[in-house]
Amino acid sequence: MPQTSIAQRKYSEIRKRAFENFINIRLFHFFIESPAIPEPNIDELIKLSVRKELYDLYARCHQMVSSLPVPDYPHIKIGELDKLYKNWYDKNTQHTSALENVFQEQHFFSKEEFIKFYGADEIDRSCTYCKVLESEIKKLAEHGWIKTKRHLTRGRTMELDRKDPFLPYTKDNVALCCYWCNNAKTDEFSIAEFERIGTAIHVIWTERLKKINKLKK
Ligand SMILES: [Zn+2]
Repeated sequence: MPQTSIAQRKYSEIRKRAFENFINIRLFHFFIESPAIPEPNIDELIKLSVRKELYDLYARCHQMVSSLPVPDYPHIKIGELDKLYKNWYDKNTQHTSALENVFQEQHFFSKEEFIKFYGADEIDRSCTYCKVLESEIKKLAEHGWIKTKRHLTRGRTMELDRKDPFLPYTKDNVALCCYWCNNAKTDEFSIAEFERIGTAIHVIWTERLKKINKLKK
C-alpha cells in the first residue's frame, strides 16, 4: 500500500477550516437577518439555506474594523457580530455533531474519496493554473527562489481551489492548485479569467527554473 500521510494531513486541515466556515456563514446569516434570535440552535442552522450574496458580504465583513456596521445591515456592528459568535461557540462547541454529520454528508468529501483524489505521497502533483510541480517548488526553494516567508508552513504541497466557491467540496468542484495561485485567485476570478494569470505565473516559474539549471552547467 502506498503511503498517504500527506493526503491525510491535508484532509484534516481543509475539513476543519471548511467546517468552521460552514458554521460561521450560517451564524452570520442568523445574526444579521434574525436579530430576534440571537442564539440559533443546531436544528435551525441545519435547516438554513444561505443566500449566495451573503457569502460575499461575510467575506467583506472579515476585512472590516469592529466599529463599522455590517454593510446594508446598519442595525448591527462588526464588533457585535464577533461577540455573538464567541457567545454561540462558548455554549455550543460540545454540541455540533449533528451539524457535522450534515456537513460531512452533503458538503464535503469522504476521507477515502479525498485520498483517491489527492493521491499517494510519492506523486508529483501539479498546479491546475500555473502547472508548477511540487518537485519544482522544492527545487526553487532549495536554490533560494521562493521568496515568501510563509513557505515554512505553506506552499510545499498543492492546495485545493473550489472552482465554484458556493458549491460544496467534491471532486468535481475542486482543482489542485499551488499556494501562490490559490492566494491570487481568491473568490474574485473565474476559472477562465485565472487561466491567463496562471499562464503568466508559469512563465515566471520557468524563468527561475532556467536560472537554476544554468548555474548547474
Ligand atoms: Zn499555481
